[in-house]
Amino acid sequence: MTQIAPTLFESAERLDAFRGDRTYLGADHRRNERRTWIVTAICAVTLAAQLGGGLVFRSMALTANGLHMAAHVAVLLVAAGAYGLARRHAQDPRFAFGTGKLGYLAGFANAVVLGMTAVLIAVESFKRLLAPEAVDYDAALALAAAGLAVTLICVWLLRPQTRNHDLNLSAAHLHLSADALVGVLAIAGLAAGRSFGWTWADPMAGLAGAALVAQFALSLVRKAAAALLDMNPSAELTAEIRARLQAGGERVLDLHLWRLGPGHHAAVAVVSADHPLGAEAYHARLKGLSGLSHVTVEVRGPGQAHDHAGHSHV
Ligand SMILES: [Zn+2]
Repeated sequence: MTQIAPTLFESAERLDAFRGDRTYLGADHRRNERRTWIVTAICAVTLAAQLGGGLVFRSMALTANGLHMAAHVAVLLVAAGAYGLARRHAQDPRFAFGTGKLGYLAGFANAVVLGMTAVLIAVESFKRLLAPEAVDYDAALALAAAGLAVTLICVWLLRPQTRNHDLNLSAAHLHLSADALVGVLAIAGLAAGRSFGWTWADPMAGLAGAALVAQFALSLVRKAAAALLDMNPSAELTAEIRARLQAGGERVLDLHLWRLGPGHHAAVAVVSADHPLGAEAYHARLKGLSGLSHVTVEVRGPGQAHDHAGHSHV
């Protein structure tokens, strides 16, 4: 640790509208947590039915579907667990900026799982394409339809309520939506196989589904990584903050904006002016900006403005 110049102490003021409150959880946190548990329960019951049916009917297809459902239970447990942890540790001072990003960590993990699902579907489809197997179309169609029905109920339950970008929920929702799409493609492929004897239709549908799922997974990974790595979440919000801070002819020497959680952002700014106001005044200018939950402003008077932004990076 290096020493901070005394002048910096005098000119810097840390202002926090929510001083003492470190809760940066999404507005729908409770609702999303509850729904994730409900869907976890639905998937667990379906899993038990599929594995039980697989044993009773000695059906490989049912067992394979059950393995996929087991992956869902795991994905949903990660999501639900993240909601619970984030809530319990919301005020834990060990988290410098709260636990609002825990859901992004869970979302990242679940996006990676989704990507692996895409690879597995693609490999399986390729195998079937090269060496077609006899398919019991009626049984497979019934299974696919039942699976699709359960998946659609889960998709509906997990639908996001507000445009809050709760990535934890999005990851689980997107996974099940992708499965619904794959299910529709599979039904189309199986129907074509049964009606026209096109054995390639089912695996081709699988490949198309895998490509879609991979696309979903990649976009999720990128979004989660952007939040976890503190990439600037909004050019518009950044521009608005800059404009407000400079409203009296000031200069913004440095400005950082990053995400704290769903619908929560933090900003750190260094403002320089010939006749500087108190930090409170700059803080007040930023009041009411939607999504701005934590603000720190450092104010510099004449002679304190350096061209470089090496303000407090001591
Ligand atoms: Zn799945």
